[in-house]
Amino acid sequence: MIEIKNLHKSYEMGANSLHVLKGINFSVKDGELVAIMGSSGSGKSTLLNILGMLDTADAGTYHLDNIKIANMDETKAANYRNKFLGFVFQSFNLINYKDALENVALPLYYQGLPRKDRQKVGLEYLDKVGLKEWSDHLPSELSGGQKQRVAIARAMASNPKVLLADEPTGALDSTTSREVMALIQRINNEGKTILVVTHENDIANMCKRIVHLKDGIIVEDKKIKQNIIKDV
Ligand code: ADP
Ligand code: MG
Repeated sequence: MIEIKNLHKSYEMGANSLHVLKGINFSVKDGELVAIMGSSGSGKSTLLNILGMLDTADAGTYHLDNIKIANMDETKAANYRNKFLGFVFQSFNLINYKDALENVALPLYYQGLPRKDRQKVGLEYLDKVGLKEWSDHLPSELSGGQKQRVAIARAMASNPKVLLADEPTGALDSTTSREVMALIQRINNEGKTILVVTHENDIANMCKRIVHLKDGIIVEDKKIKQNIIKDV
């Protein structure tokens, strides 16, 4: 599903250059649930943003579903992003003046789906995350966990090939984090390929594989015995 080879990324700041990714090699198969671990500043978000086509690498290759991701113009990149990738962020990134259903349905608007279908699919996905009854509530009327579930529904509504989550539990208490991870496990068990960036061990242990980044290289990449969440 994902194959990257010898990926490099630097940030230029005036005369200085910060080499953040220093030759990353890894691949992710269909249906995996991978945690990308590492301390703050180790390059996790940089890597995820490149995988999510929100940023580009300086060197190396990236194949997503056997398609080479390189030198695309912004229109084509946006198309691929919409079709192939779903994003979940620490800060939810919901639109404040739109209700839960409108937030979930918005990406479908950009895919050109008629209004009726957007509503139908949107409700379907809100239902999947247990929030059908909350469809007309604004983000300000939802708890942190509910907001993140709306964000997950929004990311899933366009049926992406890969779900990318950058610290999805970073703003949540531990009970709510477990609920969100239980949902991520369920979506993964239904077949979705998912990458979760985290710096917390217990969150990483809820995945099936841990890739450990340190100073811009992968220092460890191992399959683990998944901590399956049952009591939610
Ligand atoms: P992580 O997500 O693991 O905390 P990041 O990928 O966000 O790490 O950042 C890695 C390093 O790159 C950090 O030192 C950060 O300050 C720097 N960095 C991230 N984004 C930028 C940017 N747009 N411009 C300059 N430096 C950046
Ligand atoms: Mg980060």
